[in-house]
Amino acid sequence: MNHKKIILCVFISIFLLLIIKLVLQSSLKQDKLEIGVRNALELEFPKPLNVENQQINIENWASVNSEEGNIIRKMIKQTHSKCPVMGDHKPYVSVCVQDPKTNQGYVISLCCTHCLGKIQESLKLNDNKFSIRELNHVNVLYYKDEPKQIAVPCSRLNLEGVMKLVGTKLL
Ligand SMILES: [Zn+2]
Repeated sequence: MNHKKIILCVFISIFLLLIIKLVLQSSLKQDKLEIGVRNALELEFPKPLNVENQQINIENWASVNSEEGNIIRKMIKQTHSKCPVMGDHKPYVSVCVQDPKTNQGYVISLCCTHCLGKIQESLKLNDNKFSIRELNHVNVLYYKDEPKQIAVPCSRLNLEGVMKLVGTKLL
């Protein structure tokens, strides 16, 4: 082998190693992101939230500047960073969906009207693809058995609060 060939060989090896490194890094990042969202939903609430009036605090999170309000803001921001229907899409809109089971509206964040239709229809049919369930005393939007987003009680203040946090718009 002459010098040129050896140098070429070394360069190709370095190039391949860099590509492998990049691929590994991006897959690790994906894992971390996934864990981040899960932790937000499985997080044990700190003491101020584990009291009887917790629901009142949760409903008022957008207008109250308190420790529990900040925790709820963080959980909403993390879980509303992905569309619950198309997980690889970033939400562009926040809307109130109606849950016929509890007869309540909940703010969730989605990438498009198509996804809103899917969730609303599933809730209406009660087919358990999408459902609103309680997790750690907080309502959460589930897809099958997977917690997806904090289902924020629907009010004008809460909707505006979610849009500000997540960077979404009205439909
Ligand atoms: Zn969509």
